[in-house]
Amino acid sequence: MNVSGRRILILGANGFIGSSLTLGLLRKNYDVVGVDLSDFNLNESKKFANFLFRKIDVLQNFDEVESLIKECDIVVALVAIAVPSMYVKNPIAVYNLDYEHNVQVIKTCVQYGKRIVFPSTSEVYGMCSDKAFDERLSQLVLGSIEKERWIYSCIKQMLDRLIWAYGKHEGLQFTIFRPFNFIGPKLDNIKAQQEGASRVITQFAHNILNSKPIKLVDGGFQKRCFTFIDDGIDCLLKIIENKNGCADGQIFNIGNPTEEYSIKELADILISAFKEYPEYTHLAENAEIVSMAGSEYYGKAYEDVGRRVPSIANAKSILGWSPKTDIRTAVKYILDYHLLGKDYEACI
Ligand code: UDP
Repeated sequence: MNVSGRRILILGANGFIGSSLTLGLLRKNYDVVGVDLSDFNLNESKKFANFLFRKIDVLQNFDEVESLIKECDIVVALVAIAVPSMYVKNPIAVYNLDYEHNVQVIKTCVQYGKRIVFPSTSEVYGMCSDKAFDERLSQLVLGSIEKERWIYSCIKQMLDRLIWAYGKHEGLQFTIFRPFNFIGPKLDNIKAQQEGASRVITQFAHNILNSKPIKLVDGGFQKRCFTFIDDGIDCLLKIIENKNGCADGQIFNIGNPTEEYSIKELADILISAFKEYPEYTHLAENAEIVSMAGSEYYGKAYEDVGRRVPSIANAKSILGWSPKTDIRTAVKYILDYHLLGKDYEACI
């Protein structure tokens, strides 16, 4: 089947958002080509006849990516390093992949007249002090150059600006979206022994599981709004559907403003949730929580965001979307997957 307008190229299909989106699209009968370095998150997707996986290193073989862009209708460009510890450990690798590669993708979409759906990030708002971040009105507030943490935010901001400019001056059809702390079973590998290499929720679960102390950076007073992956995918499917062109030229925050918790509260929620699994209760009861300075945990190039709340008025009014999943339900899906081996893909 090759229905015009429904051929989607997902660059970075094996990632957390990519693999969930791929499956969501296949279930809605889109034709999907997924590109990534590996496909271990795509087992369910590979059962669909209208899915094709292409193993490509996009930094080495852009020619192949270009051919695929030519053949599709919509490009979802998800290839990026998006782990805060990497922004301070290897900012040049972050730049090469996140910036250089995506500029190529954007320019190729312009060249062949393809629609691009592009992931910006809640990080672009940086240390903005607004109570809720507005896509059009909020200031984007970054720290100084030696605070290398901001390289990712700055790269994404530049890519947003480039896409916007191509949209305005050269007719690029685009939608930009900004995920706010998406969480879900396949976010990071809970079993990996890499302190600081995962997002906070998987790091904490890993630490409980391995009887290592949970480290609250700077006391864990900083807050995040946690968004369950299925809610995020639901919004992305509406963006891709693009009813009457409603998503064209728009920027959408995708987040769950009512599920705002401090990092310390998140640790408590996880510990309580672990206690519900008899085999793991003893680990939760013995879980240790310590506080650690951000400069010690990440190094001096780190700077944190105190609060990060999305305004989702745009997604509500234009797409008719709202998130539905609270953090405790999300945590249950995550722990059922990791501790009981339940298949998460069944719940999209
Ligand atoms: N954090 C923490 N302990 C950890 C890992 C992260 O306290 O072991 C904090 C981190 O400093 C940040 C928050 O948790 O304030 C969220 O971190 P994450 O890496 O998930 O991504 P961010 O929301 O900062 O993009």
